[in-house]
Amino acid sequence: MNKIKTNLSICPLCSATGLFSHQGRDLLYDKNELYSYDECTRCFAIYHRPMPDSKTISEFYPDAYYQEITKQKKHSLIKQSVLKTRYNYSHIQIPSYLKIIAPIISFFYYKSSIQFRPDSKGLDIGCGNGRFISSMNSLGWQFEGVEFSSVAVDICHKAGLKVFNGELKAANFENNSFDLISARHLIEHIPDPDNLFKEISRILKPKGRLIIRTPNSRALGRKWFGLNWFPDDIPRHLILFDLKNLNMLAKNHNLSYVKSKTFASPRAILNSIDYFTENKKTPSRKRKLHKFLAKFFVAFATLINKGDELFVIYEKK
Ligand SMILES: [Zn+2]
Repeated sequence: MNKIKTNLSICPLCSATGLFSHQGRDLLYDKNELYSYDECTRCFAIYHRPMPDSKTISEFYPDAYYQEITKQKKHSLIKQSVLKTRYNYSHIQIPSYLKIIAPIISFFYYKSSIQFRPDSKGLDIGCGNGRFISSMNSLGWQFEGVEFSSVAVDICHKAGLKVFNGELKAANFENNSFDLISARHLIEHIPDPDNLFKEISRILKPKGRLIIRTPNSRALGRKWFGLNWFPDDIPRHLILFDLKNLNMLAKNHNLSYVKSKTFASPRAILNSIDYFTENKKTPSRKRKLHKFLAKFFVAFATLINKGDELFVIYEKK
């Protein structure tokens, strides 16, 4: 009886039982300690077992994990013209010839952008060095951030950004505060995403939107590279999601699905190759042939919608 108990765990998303999935080590910082992950038998979420406490989690992140903003992300003129013509960014100035071709470009690119609303307020949760906040503010949004790491918050404050240091709930935002909330590469680092979604839903305005970016547990490369799959980022990624269990979580908190897609990046495949081959010399991302071949993988994974990153938009009912 005891043996059965120790073999099972409780899924942090749906409370069904989970079974052993895999065991891996921190390849990014080349450490030897092993971490175990289980997979839920109902929603197929993959999660740390046991789920580490907050002190242990903070030890996964050395200060070097956070980098200063080295350069401001610039939005290309093409992107700005699509935003202006299709997404209500009327305040952006662009050359008139671009106004004519923007509708054609938007048929292929920037299909998942968010409609701009004047005086719209945004919140980036887990904003890191604040690059995304600066980028959104340069388009006319009033974005602020929440960040757990005091090192990262110092970087944001030096850049003049409004950022709260701590967990989202501790920021005590009022109900229905934001038109747009982004959680990019955040939810996989959180031990209790259910409470996070509850709080997001509370502070989002009705019809406000939530953008989620997170590694895709169904990625093609994950199947190929197994424990050497770079986006798994053991032990920092506590839970790995797919579109189905993410939708279930959102639906439980009054957030309806709007659209989704997967992205693939050369970085994921190239770093995974280095892990797999234990390459300590020139990294693959700096080798021309590797970079060239990675483009084929990226194109294929994107085509079959099994990219390494999930991008989903939800809307509060
Ligand atoms: Zn589950």
